[in-house]
Amino acid sequence: MPGFEIFGDEERKEVNEVLETGVLFRYGFDAARKGRWKAREMEALLADKLEVGYAHLCANGTMALSLALAACGIGAGDEVIVPPFTFVATIESVIMAGAIPVFAEIDDTLCLSPEGVAAALTPATKAVLPVHMCGAMARIDELKTLCDQKGLVLIEDACQSLGASHQGKFVGGFGKAGCFSFDSVKTVTCGEGGAVVTNENAVYLTADAYSDHGHDHIGSDRGAEDHVTVGTNYRICELNAAVGLAQLRKLDRILEIQRRNKAVLKTAMEKIPGITFRTLPDPSGDSATFLTFLLPNLEKTRQAVKALGAAGVDGCFHWFDNNWHYIRKWHHFKDLKSPARLAVQALPNFPDFKKVAVPKSDALIERTISLQIKLGWTDADLDKRIQALTTVLKGI
Ligand SMILES: *Cc1c(COP(=O)(O)O)cnc(C)c1O
Repeated sequence: MPGFEIFGDEERKEVNEVLETGVLFRYGFDAARKGRWKAREMEALLADKLEVGYAHLCANGTMALSLALAACGIGAGDEVIVPPFTFVATIESVIMAGAIPVFAEIDDTLCLSPEGVAAALTPATKAVLPVHMCGAMARIDELKTLCDQKGLVLIEDACQSLGASHQGKFVGGFGKAGCFSFDSVKTVTCGEGGAVVTNENAVYLTADAYSDHGHDHIGSDRGAEDHVTVGTNYRICELNAAVGLAQLRKLDRILEIQRRNKAVLKTAMEKIPGITFRTLPDPSGDSATFLTFLLPNLEKTRQAVKALGAAGVDGCFHWFDNNWHYIRKWHHFKDLKSPARLAVQALPNFPDFKKVAVPKSDALIERTISLQIKLGWTDADLDKRIQALTTVLKGI
């Protein structure tokens, strides 16, 4: 999976260039920075790689989501359709915007299904926020068509799927905005970092201003800049951008290794009876960070996870029993445990999240196991994994 496996001289060189000037701020200080603009450079490279008009870096993926919602005009009281299978940050960003997350069912892609979204629509629906989970794509073209037909804003959470594509187009570039994370375990890491990408100049300019207290970033005198919006501070630091820049240059290599390792593993696992795989709307566009498969039922899945652990197969995730990525275990969220009253709690259409029922999603996630794909595996490591997986899973 992650870029942190391949830190090297490239990352060190970029970071040192920043430290040499002492300018850690991404804006201004034109003379002192000696032409070194790591955030800007990474943005240009990201937009180029993803074939989108604009990319704006920010402090992390969670803030990228908040920024995208704000820049797309989603705020207080708006309903945003979200999947129950995601990292909880997706939901947090909606809540923090004062908007209401409305959960819709996923399908065999393990991402929001177009039918699920259609069933969750209400007159208050303003946006659909699909998450391209575990390195691969939702049925994003169908979701886009649905959003266009209904006049809804499509925002993609592509935090886990940098470099994945659908029919030749990179995920993140289908919606009005797309969000990426460069946290420490993502495909490419800044340490902490995120990005909003878009093809719309207005969305980009709003995101750029909003993430820096509303500054319009026109001219080279920060004190004289106008404020085009109320905003906040979601800025990335040049040091983080420097790491990310070196990492992003390695993306193609990362994807190539992931795809090769995953293909070897998958070919071997296809021979094991009783196992099915997650549906990929476009298998060739999979970024291959995970190999995700399904067993016949919950009991066998739990049995398998336990046995795989005992056999030394690390990096196995059973999301149903895992506290991170599935709604079932988000008790803090269902109870809205918060140190202070949240804006959404003042809304008239505020739902009780304890009552959310997603039976179709439950029936999928309870049987789903994801295996993390590592970059550093040798052929011998792969052989060993295949043997352990085959022995354990055939036994079950
Ligand atoms: C990692 C992640 C985020 C949040 O990114 P951070 O940079 O850790 O804040 C949001 N959504 C998904 C699906 C993620 O995997």
